[in-house]
Amino acid sequence: MELKDYLNASYTAYQAVQGAKSLLLSSGFVPLKETESWHLERGGKYFVERNGSSLIAFCVGTPDYFKIVASHTDSPCLKLKENPAMERDSFVRWNVEPYGGGIWYSFFDRPLKVAGRVAVKEGNGIRMENVVSPYTLTIPSLAVHMNRGVNDGFSVNPQVDLLPLAALGACDLFSGLTSEEVLSYDLYVVPAEAAYESGVHGEFLTAPRLDNLTSVFSSLLALTEAEGDGICVAALFDNEEVGSRTLQGAGSDFLRRTLNKIGRCLGISVEVYAKSYFVSLDNAHSVHPNHPEKCDPTNRPVLGGGVVIKNHANKAYTTDALSSAIAKLIFERAGVKYQLFFNRSDARSGGTLGAISQGQISVPTVDLGIAQLAMHSAVETMASSDFEHLLKGLKAIYSASIRIDGDKIVVE
Ligand SMILES: [Zn+2]
Repeated sequence: MELKDYLNASYTAYQAVQGAKSLLLSSGFVPLKETESWHLERGGKYFVERNGSSLIAFCVGTPDYFKIVASHTDSPCLKLKENPAMERDSFVRWNVEPYGGGIWYSFFDRPLKVAGRVAVKEGNGIRMENVVSPYTLTIPSLAVHMNRGVNDGFSVNPQVDLLPLAALGACDLFSGLTSEEVLSYDLYVVPAEAAYESGVHGEFLTAPRLDNLTSVFSSLLALTEAEGDGICVAALFDNEEVGSRTLQGAGSDFLRRTLNKIGRCLGISVEVYAKSYFVSLDNAHSVHPNHPEKCDPTNRPVLGGGVVIKNHANKAYTTDALSSAIAKLIFERAGVKYQLFFNRSDARSGGTLGAISQGQISVPTVDLGIAQLAMHSAVETMASSDFEHLLKGLKAIYSASIRIDGDKIVVE
């Protein structure tokens, strides 16, 4: 599977996990269930999912310590409410609410799909089913003639401006989605363009949801392809865009429970956590060429500059001298380009799942990611070469022997 294919199929976290599962199954990983007891073997490869939108895959190598790469499966979009139809003047629009912090003006006048999962009635039970609409929608802008000031600044009221146009006359939300009786749903209206190369030399990749499916896909590829040292883990979490503190988010007990269960199965004691290493993987901001003033004066990541190591004094990013030094050492030996991100000191920092996960699994952690432009826009832009560096870097991290013994660290 190529990155573009994965991006094109992963409309929501549900499809992102579905794609992850097929990749893992084709690489010989064995599915496990949270509700069952496990029998793990040394050398085995496994995965377990939660809620259909989060997944943890792992390879049981030796010696006993964890190397974890965690990323998120969700992206900003619009969530459909129940009773969605809003009819007026022969038009039907659907009632939605924002999910996460999108650049909402970018959602106008472009192809959108409905995707997610539905809960269907089956006998006396319920079955969850992933769906993607066969139809395409759009949210039409208000004409410039009716909004003369639009180019001087435009604020979006989500209840007024962001309702997708569904049909002329009565229509069925589930048309083509499923023929079965739907009891409830988690459905989202999402940008539907296919990924495309841009730039004179095709050096950029432009697509919806680069944040953070590039991280998800690179961690899966690295896990399936690396000769791992220790117990290598790729953790994919939903709900980062809304704070991670959910059943299946990085703030949940999913990773802690899974690692503890692996430990119990293999007879590993809790001391392994103090020897483990964690990569919080999420996209980073490149310098924007139209707004270079928005960037830190001395640390200026660019597209094509390699993997970004993110830093923040007040710990929106987990990186410290130890975790950063380990990553730099591994990257330098593997020939992986890297660059540094710091916020401007007068700007508020973004955040990601590493800092939240620390409350559940407290191990030395570094925040890494690809540099991109237009984060949280309907389509985002990165340099294709950075993905290659990230993949090489993650494989090198999984393969490296990292021995942490207090302040004595050996990396081979
Ligand atoms: Zn992100």
